[in-house]
Amino acid sequence: MAKPQHQQPEDHADIREGVRALCARYPGEYWRALDRERAYPTEFVRALTEAGYLGCLIPEAFGGSGLGIGAAAAILEEVHASGGNGAACHAQMYIMGTILRHGSAAQKAKFLPEIAAGRLRLQAFGVTEPTAGTDTTAIRTAAVRLGDRYVVNGQKVWTSRAEHSDLMLLLARTTAREKAARKTEGLSVFLVDMRAALGKGLTIRPIRTMINHATTEVFFDNLEVPAENLIGEEGAGFRYILDGMNAERILIAAECIGDARWFIAKARGYAKERVVFGRPIGQNQGIQFPIARAYAQSEAAALMVKRAASLYEAGSPCGPEANMAKLLASEASWFAADTCLQTHGGFGFAEDYDVERKFRETRLYQVAPISTNLILAYLAEHVLGLPRSY
Ligand SMILES: Cc1cc2nc3c(=O)[nH]c(=O)nc-3n(C[C@H](O)[C@H](O)[C@H](O)COP(=O)(O)OP(=O)(O)OC[C@H]3O[C@@H](n4cnc5c(N)ncnc54)[C@H](O)[C@@H]3O)c2cc1C
Repeated sequence: MAKPQHQQPEDHADIREGVRALCARYPGEYWRALDRERAYPTEFVRALTEAGYLGCLIPEAFGGSGLGIGAAAAILEEVHASGGNGAACHAQMYIMGTILRHGSAAQKAKFLPEIAAGRLRLQAFGVTEPTAGTDTTAIRTAAVRLGDRYVVNGQKVWTSRAEHSDLMLLLARTTAREKAARKTEGLSVFLVDMRAALGKGLTIRPIRTMINHATTEVFFDNLEVPAENLIGEEGAGFRYILDGMNAERILIAAECIGDARWFIAKARGYAKERVVFGRPIGQNQGIQFPIARAYAQSEAAALMVKRAASLYEAGSPCGPEANMAKLLASEASWFAADTCLQTHGGFGFAEDYDVERKFRETRLYQVAPISTNLILAYLAEHVLGLPRSY
């Protein structure tokens, strides 16, 4: 469908063009079939990796293309705007940053070129636990040092893509919360080689959800991790994880913008074609106004994503902007999803239109990787100076 008429020239136009061409090989039928089976988009992820898109943030010195977060955001936005879903592989882009920023020279030399070449998959991020929820410092998974290794015991939940990843970035307690000077201390980050660990202290159990997300729960039972796989300093892991969160927020927000654009294009197309009472339904203001509102909301949210990405690329603080981008973009995509479904009437529920699938998929982003309430709490406390609410 033609673009809305006023639209400005696109940033990263070449990258977007390339991603669109790649995604055209994976149309709605492809995603629908996977969704039905809850199967992983292996071919799509392989194509994205081989084209170099998943290694775009890895510096050239380590075999990546050394691009900025704006380029990564453009890639994920286009994947979602094409009707696909980057959730199968987006984590590699932001988890890698933890190794890049806090890993040793030896760790970077060992892992980054392999990840960039697509020979190693770094897709699993083990933070959330069943009893801790959003209160990350309350995690209980413990890593105890014994000589040249750590022994890990505990459980993670919602560890997405664990079955489709070679490595997992794991957050564990190396000092119990009660014994740490502050609750944010005593947490450490490890790179776990899951290929070596499966069946030797690591068990993965898939969780079936309302979306096709390859998410799992992971159990550690005396899993041995070589001490050389500790990232950075022992005890400083919470800070490393927080450091990566702005990138995560910006990239997820870009996916939401892509979703919003897909829903708006789909709604617009259907509103023009569907004739009821002798005229296109899009001639009714009750149909066109919500689409116009969704458009305005998503364009405004896209500006915030762009601002957050520029600050991030300049190395400037961008916590408020990254959080606002995620908040506004996830709300814009959800409003666009609801509008698109309503525009389609009964056909919005039919699998063949892809609307119900994308509707389910985009709903996630108000809950994960950070829920809307927690973003509001962050803005209230850290930006507006209101008393901490929890
Ligand atoms: C499909 C899926 C994939 C995921 N993938 C991963 C992954 O790969 N790795 C990983 O580590 N995690 C992952 N997660 C976990 C995700 O990050 C968490 O679900 C999310 O952070 C919310 O935590 P929770 O589910 O424990 O909710 P809870 O913390 O139990 O919160 C429940 C509700 O209460 C609200 N709430 C809690 N505290 C407050 C408060 N103080 N003020 C106001 N409201 C509050 C929350 O906003 C939320 O709406 C995934 C989750 C899902 C569903």
